[in-house]
Amino acid sequence: MPRPARKTAAPKPRTAASRRRPARIPKVGFVSLGCPKALVDSERILTQLRAEGYEVAPTYEAADVVVVNTCGFIDAAVDESLDAIGEALDRNGRVIVTGCLGARPERILERHPRVLKVTGPHAYEEVLGAVHQHLPPQHDPHLDLVPPQGVRLTPRHYAYLKISEGCNNRCSFCIIPAMRGRLASRPIGEVLREAERLAHAGVRELLVISQDTSAYGADLRYARDRWREREYETRFIDLAQALAELKVWVRLHYVYPYPHVDAVMALMAEGGVLPYLDIPFQHGSPSVLKRMRRPAHAEDTLARIATWRRDCPQLTLRSTFIVGFPGETEEEFEELLDWLDEAQLDRVGCFKYSPVEGASANALAHHVPPEVQEERYARFMERAAAISAERLSLRIGRRERVLIDEVNGDEAIARSAAEAPQIDGVVRIAGAAGLRAGEFTEVEIVAADAYDLAGRRVS
Ligand code: SF4
Repeated sequence: MPRPARKTAAPKPRTAASRRRPARIPKVGFVSLGCPKALVDSERILTQLRAEGYEVAPTYEAADVVVVNTCGFIDAAVDESLDAIGEALDRNGRVIVTGCLGARPERILERHPRVLKVTGPHAYEEVLGAVHQHLPPQHDPHLDLVPPQGVRLTPRHYAYLKISEGCNNRCSFCIIPAMRGRLASRPIGEVLREAERLAHAGVRELLVISQDTSAYGADLRYARDRWREREYETRFIDLAQALAELKVWVRLHYVYPYPHVDAVMALMAEGGVLPYLDIPFQHGSPSVLKRMRRPAHAEDTLARIATWRRDCPQLTLRSTFIVGFPGETEEEFEELLDWLDEAQLDRVGCFKYSPVEGASANALAHHVPPEVQEERYARFMERAAAISAERLSLRIGRRERVLIDEVNGDEAIARSAAEAPQIDGVVRIAGAAGLRAGEFTEVEIVAADAYDLAGRRVS
């Protein structure tokens, strides 16, 4: 599920500034909002633009035209997207809009009638067409070479690997299937070739994303495809097994607790993919899950978690939850807290339910008043923080392999297998001399709070 957040920053082009260039290089500014899936869309558009000879402008003022990739998941994200379009119009004036909010052009045009073009999510061709129309390319194939791994908005050492678009589920609080359409998986060979290119380009960690990773390939009837002289089916477990061949960190996001997910535990236990699962459980009460129309809502998730931990004791589980869903009673909320106590998840995020225009949950009876939502949110977070602090404290004294994300003066910010970038905590390492972003190192965990850990380097 998307986490609305400003991801952006138009990266400086990697081409050397000293290269000889034709007279005028067309420059595109780019603002990328929303979830990692939207970020991958942005990377694809930027990669194509770079291949066509455009440069990416680092500021609004330096750009000839600005593309804003919007998020429309919840109302706060819609507001943020509309504000970002307004800012781009004020500071540049020539703006093309794409992304999830673009599926509802009337919302955009009502407030910003001056935008040049509005396109929907993953409408790459349309975005490129709009850029060509308003800022024709000046292609020079000898100068405008794009690195084979494409243009990425993430640091050089990790990358998102989008395996499918759309979703076949119909969660009642979500409009993503209406905006992004039904599940459309990429054939496994294509995904693996992209993963291989990324690994060759220096990526140390691949973050597998989609709307429903466990459903991967169902729309293609698990079609067979070849990679490295072997045949694989386009399905979740085959993908995990093949990615393990690349010998980089592989992290699985947006997985649902279906029985077929059990099969990946052996691979995690032997180190083929990271022992980490990001599962958006959303609630612990069966009746609320049913009203949410969540995938796998009838599964006994606590039993499933116990089995996973038996098969892979080092497993880290992260999840997100919604409190104050329409009709949620105090008893159902208590059920959620009890579920949380038993599940003992390592990392947990929480949202207060907020209606999204077009979602069927809006029609449900008994919306929870904001003050009750607030109170439940605070109770939930207190419980989750206590569990997280306890689980993190169990790591004190352990030796862990970490990947350095950045070095700031004498401190390095790193992550172990148990922390995904941007959404989980970090491992702080004092005494960073000689460490560099993108390197692995060994630390002993010496302290922890509810979110972050401190590590001491061990040689
Ligand atoms: S699984 Fe549910 S919440 Fe996630 S994209 Fe599909 S419909 Fe939306």
